[in-house]
Amino acid sequence: MCGPTPYDYTHVGHARVYVFFDIVRRYFEYLGLEVKLVVNFTDIDDKILNRARSEGRDWREITETYIKDYYEVCEKLHIKPAYKNPRVTEHIQDMVDAIKKLIELGYAYVTPDHSVYFDVTKVPNYGELSHQKIEELIAGARVEPEPYKRNPLDFALWKGRKPGEPWWETPWGPGRPGWHLECVVMATKYLGQVFDIHGGGQDLVFPHHENELAIARVLHGPSSFARYWMHVGLVTIKGEKMSKSLGNIVLVKDVLAKYNPEVFRLYIASTQYRKPLDFAMEHLEQYRTILDTLYTAHDYLKEVIKERGTVTSIDPDRLSDRERDAVVKVNSYVEEFEKYMNNDFNTPKALSTLISLAKYIITTIVTSEEKLSTEVLSYIYSTYLDLCNVFGVLNEVTPPVNYEKLVHELIDLVLEIRSDLRKIKLWELADKIRAKLSELGIAVSDYRLKSYWKWRRNI
Ligand SMILES: [Zn+2]
Repeated sequence: MCGPTPYDYTHVGHARVYVFFDIVRRYFEYLGLEVKLVVNFTDIDDKILNRARSEGRDWREITETYIKDYYEVCEKLHIKPAYKNPRVTEHIQDMVDAIKKLIELGYAYVTPDHSVYFDVTKVPNYGELSHQKIEELIAGARVEPEPYKRNPLDFALWKGRKPGEPWWETPWGPGRPGWHLECVVMATKYLGQVFDIHGGGQDLVFPHHENELAIARVLHGPSSFARYWMHVGLVTIKGEKMSKSLGNIVLVKDVLAKYNPEVFRLYIASTQYRKPLDFAMEHLEQYRTILDTLYTAHDYLKEVIKERGTVTSIDPDRLSDRERDAVVKVNSYVEEFEKYMNNDFNTPKALSTLISLAKYIITTIVTSEEKLSTEVLSYIYSTYLDLCNVFGVLNEVTPPVNYEKLVHELIDLVLEIRSDLRKIKLWELADKIRAKLSELGIAVSDYRLKSYWKWRRNI
């Protein structure tokens, strides 16, 4: 997956891509597949250098700051770590080797300013990924101030050194690598020449991924590189693209200051990934209630089982009719969930199914728990947790409670109520409470209408 160019804080458009691919990864793992996820950092780029220049800082300081932000955001959003996060600046030699090969094969040319360009006219299928014809692309191409380009669609594999910019030495002169090449080199290095899925935001289809594909096919053969491409729709604000110039960029840290990260995850999952998502902070509100329902089902179920069950399959012949009905019903939700996920990751529908399962647990399972064996309840519990885990929610099933403090406060509360009972002379009820507390190891002594308690010791 094409990762960040670390020159600014993570915004909701980036986070949508990261959360979605985390759901994809979790779903594959749910199906029992082994996932190797590589997310690369473009840690040398015009945007980084411009920012460093305008702030008078070293460019490496800029990349370190925002790579740190990326990791922090991912951790908060419960995004599982990638297998590798390769950085461009740590793979310069690999890129130089790839460019050498492209020049030798006649697909790239060196210009007098020590840049190297890829010649797109040499690639017969150029435009294939974005479904565009090369002639139309040429006609619509923006004329950029790159005087040495042979064709308007050619792109830089290597950018010749400019004053004040970092550079690395190569046989054709000093400079730094170009964006499109980087992902090809790093992806194939860690995933092999052919791998299953490559993805990123919708805005990367053209020219970035088209160019990646062109390079990869030359370097590694016509059926190399990604078997499937997945592009996540853009996040807009009031129908407009987020941009610095419009000043409408929403940062993840600002969303997380108001909402639980799991609420944000559910919100992202509620739109099919290819569709655009028009973001508005208030839209997250309803996912608070949904998350609360998911936790409620969990907490009730956990309470009736008392301890976490590990039963993952059960013998249908040994079930009562009621138990069989419950298992069949839960399994039908699971099938529906998988059917939606298998249909190009229809997360909004899969989420609705999960919510229905949660409601079924709250209304039917928990209320008839005494008629269901621990084995069946444990099966339902672990099945439910597995589905929640695909969305990356229910990470906080153990609430952050200070039990010692809570116990003290609850005893104080009981004694306060008992005092009130004594004031209205309900002695029998007051005595019953004292006897029950004593059984729990709490000794209560009364002094006039005030009561004191201590732990009862067997001395
Ligand atoms: Zn890329």
